[in-house]
Amino acid sequence: MQIPFVPRSVAAMAIGALVIAPFIGGATAAQSPLSSTERSIVRSVDAHNGDALALLVRLVDINSGTTNHAGVRRVADILRAQFDSLGFTTQWVDGAAFHRAGHLVAEHPGPGPKILIIGHLDTVFDPDSPFQKFVRLDDSTARGPGVIDMKGGDVIALYALRALEEAGALDSMHVVVVYDGDEEDAGAPLSAARHTLIDAAHGATAALGFEDGAGDPRTAVISRRGDISWTLTTTGHTAHSSQIFTTEYGAGAVYEAARVLDAFYTQLSTERYLTFNPGVVVGGTAVSLDSTLSAGTAAGKTNVVADTMVVAGDLRTLSPAQLAHAEQVMQSIVRHNLPGTTAHLVFADGYPPMAPTAGNKRLLAMYDRASRDLGSGPVVAVDPSRAGAADVSFVANEVPMAIDALGLSGHDDHSPQETADLRMLPVQTKRAAILMYRLTAQTGTHAITP
Ligand SMILES: [Zn+2]
Repeated sequence: MQIPFVPRSVAAMAIGALVIAPFIGGATAAQSPLSSTERSIVRSVDAHNGDALALLVRLVDINSGTTNHAGVRRVADILRAQFDSLGFTTQWVDGAAFHRAGHLVAEHPGPGPKILIIGHLDTVFDPDSPFQKFVRLDDSTARGPGVIDMKGGDVIALYALRALEEAGALDSMHVVVVYDGDEEDAGAPLSAARHTLIDAAHGATAALGFEDGAGDPRTAVISRRGDISWTLTTTGHTAHSSQIFTTEYGAGAVYEAARVLDAFYTQLSTERYLTFNPGVVVGGTAVSLDSTLSAGTAAGKTNVVADTMVVAGDLRTLSPAQLAHAEQVMQSIVRHNLPGTTAHLVFADGYPPMAPTAGNKRLLAMYDRASRDLGSGPVVAVDPSRAGAADVSFVANEVPMAIDALGLSGHDDHSPQETADLRMLPVQTKRAAILMYRLTAQTGTHAITP
């Protein structure tokens, strides 16, 4: 997951320690709202929890920083063998075309509606990071690179499918698994890097993402803001500074850029869930900004009117409609130039928004029902301002229903304190398995019609 720059709530972390008790218990068989197949799914998850944890340790101990292609491939090979053993047809999609390791794809054909499962193999920790190994902290927690983001989620999806297979439910299911090798730092061109995932989503009824989300097992993600970048370039006439504001020389590039940014702020900054941040600025008479939009140079003089200014920023939106509206307003601001200047605004590829659609809410309701039926309490949607962009966003507009954050709970992902709550491993595996089972068993019913 790409983390938004939002401090994790202290309250949410405390919840992990204090309020988790209701998740651990379960209804007894006599009063269980689960069907007999569902109860055998639950038994299978419990029976294999030790194996699931051992696999998680093995995967975390392999460095798979995004740029460590061999490590990403080793993680993929281990998981691939697991999916092979469940009767999936597996495939490694080489990533040379987008300068990354590649993606693991596993498919189980069946008569049921197609369910897309999304994970990733890579982590943010490079081979030279001091954070490399799984360390058990106590009975219920462990620290490790990628333990929740998201090798834990990869293992949860796998063991949910294993339980479905043991219960005889997998035969009728159509499941496609895509574990990307470059979620934390997507390859370029982005269209090539995400082609496999988007292709797998075609015809799917639901997309299930196994990121760790907000780290609170009482929440799931049904909406993520999109995140794209933009570059504003303004020009003016260079001249002695004493001539600025004259009809002949005009206002110069810096005032024009300032006008545009001020109008962005004035006209758009109060719209809910919409943010745009000018992060880098270079202006003067000789400027450059590199292609990553993260470094540049500028030269000029206080007594010379600047002829160029370049501003690079991001734009986060909740829905495709909000994105389209923001782009349209920003472009119309850009057109009303100060005298003697031009302005040009370009939007780049990025993560599309995942809107909180009615379909996504229905899928959350099914997940919430599964959790309650398991005796693990309700699940509600996390506020989109606390959810960063992730791979599920690329398919959110391709499928009738999508949900994310079905993975392993914990806290402090993307940091050397990344910690998993191991008590949630079987709980979240059961919830995911029951959700997948019901998505198939309830085909055509009102419950899943988008
Ligand atoms: Zn992630």
